[in-house]
Amino acid sequence: MLSLDLAGLRGGLASDMPSNLTITEFGTSADGRRADLYTIRNERGAEVKITNYGGIVTSIKVPDRHGQLGEVVLGFDSLREYLGAHPCYGATIGRYANRIAKARFLLSGREYRLAANDGSNHLHGGYKGFDKVFWEPDPLLAEESSALRLRYLSIDGEEGYPGNLSVSVTFSLSEDNALKIDYAATTDETTILNLTNHSYFNLTDGGSSDILDHELRIEADYYLPIDREALPCGAVREVAGTAFDFRRSTAIGLRIADKDEQLLFGEGYNHLWVLRDTEETPAHAATVSDPKSGRIVELFTTEPGVQLFTANFPANMFRGRDGSFCPSRGGFCLEAQHCPDSPNHPEYPSTVLNPGEIYRQTTIYRFSV
Ligand code: BGC
Repeated sequence: MLSLDLAGLRGGLASDMPSNLTITEFGTSADGRRADLYTIRNERGAEVKITNYGGIVTSIKVPDRHGQLGEVVLGFDSLREYLGAHPCYGATIGRYANRIAKARFLLSGREYRLAANDGSNHLHGGYKGFDKVFWEPDPLLAEESSALRLRYLSIDGEEGYPGNLSVSVTFSLSEDNALKIDYAATTDETTILNLTNHSYFNLTDGGSSDILDHELRIEADYYLPIDREALPCGAVREVAGTAFDFRRSTAIGLRIADKDEQLLFGEGYNHLWVLRDTEETPAHAATVSDPKSGRIVELFTTEPGVQLFTANFPANMFRGRDGSFCPSRGGFCLEAQHCPDSPNHPEYPSTVLNPGEIYRQTTIYRFSV
């Protein structure tokens, strides 16, 4: 069902001209807020669906080696399911992706206390992070290269963070099957910021099977060891000679069950790799290929790190698209971001955003076979 007057949004486009972005109603929350679903297709038939609730990428369909389109991310087909329990499927995460120890940090000589929603620590922006708010949608309609911009004003004090923060996230899909996510943000008071997208990929079937056979390469020589609470211990460690060495393409499952303290603490991979190249234009960060379908996803980003999370949940914990439970390790996240707990580690790249500065990030997931 078409839920918005597209003609009024088309800008330069005549109202009867086709656009590669369509809008359908997704559902209404208990307090009467409506979410829509924005579908962007390219000429090759690939498609991405995004909702303005949580800035969530709900679906990505790309061809396998036989040209067959198939789902490659975990998610749901209705708003109702996203309002229930799930581990941030596809969501835009903010203000701070990953953990902040003891849910506190010092900034400009003042202590800020955040929502402690992960034991005594802060995780993914708190109880009501950017993954659980309604964003203002701006469909940027064009005949071939439409995009969806989402905007959100996070007010001073939200979940404990200082400053009124104005954020935009723009999603576009290129003809070479690359989903590009451009982030921008400004603040009226010095604050901290670490945005990411939390898509769980499964290039075989979108989450009915596990991803242990998927082969991963990460452009990193170092990773950040964690403690029992999944907080970074401090110094980076070389990946060489460890289960964290993905400098050559290696099956994700090959060493995941090794008796390794780091894998025990993470219950699998739940760590940040420090990327070799950090540039203003997105650099190649990782590649995952699926021997079964032949599908490949390449990650490019301007961020200094990537968190690999292998969905280390028990098999009966979270449901998937068709209502059935997702298997353990039914997906992997490659979250482009800054180091966890940076506000408490002055030795890590800064996540401080000052008034007058513009936060920018570009992250690209490019699909091929
Ligand atoms: C974190 C995990 C967490 C998951 C779901 C990941 O980014 O690293 O520890 O369980 O998100 O919130």
